[in-house]
Amino acid sequence: MEQYTTTCGVKLPEVDGAKNYPLVFYNVSDWSEFLRMDTPFKLMDVTDADFLKKIAQAACTMYATNGIGIAANQVGFKENWCIIDTKWLETGEKNPRVILNPDANQSLLIETEQTSHEGCLSVPLGFKGDVPRHTAVQLVYTNLKGEQETWDAFDLDAAAAMHELDHLRGKLFIDYISKLRLSLLDKKLKKVQKKVKHQIRNHNKQILSQVKKLNQMAAFGYRPKEEEPLVVEQQEEIEFEHGSDITG
Ligand SMILES: [Zn+2]
Repeated sequence: MEQYTTTCGVKLPEVDGAKNYPLVFYNVSDWSEFLRMDTPFKLMDVTDADFLKKIAQAACTMYATNGIGIAANQVGFKENWCIIDTKWLETGEKNPRVILNPDANQSLLIETEQTSHEGCLSVPLGFKGDVPRHTAVQLVYTNLKGEQETWDAFDLDAAAAMHELDHLRGKLFIDYISKLRLSLLDKKLKKVQKKVKHQIRNHNKQILSQVKKLNQMAAFGYRPKEEEPLVVEQQEEIEFEHGSDITG
């Protein structure tokens, strides 16, 4: 069991580390509607245990997949929140910043740009590219205490914040990559998509056979003690480029 402490000091509920949410993949079957949606602003009840559990499990998914950020619509929620933790891969300390209803018009602190080398948990198989991001942004959002918080994010934090805010508006980092470059990568991406579709088919088959098995066992009076964790097969990692700054 893992427990996370947020930057505002609120402890997220304990969740089984193995029970992550399945990620939504880009442009594969109808799941991509989540990734291309502008998530709506909605008041969230920060005292609701089910809501906190969703957030804790999304954090779990982010950590289990070595991400430094994750947005609600990456794990199948049409909700306007995201989580960022850019330091944990270095320090080993999990300290997620939970960002509810971030102000979409975040102000730029410094008008300079950095080139951010990014990948995405929802773009399959380690596809990466360079994205122009501002070096400093100010985010206004609601934290898990239900209070409004202002965060001045710099460098990697700024890039990660913009990557996640983009997600919440239905934008992906690949939208910044030039058409010429994308066309060069298109072939690889198609190959990747074919592979992912195959993985999803296999995954669905696994789930169906699991359900069938449970039904057969139920016919003989067996009752599972608790919900079986969803086990997602490890993806084969193909690096298109070397080096990685952001995966979120
Ligand atoms: Zn992403």
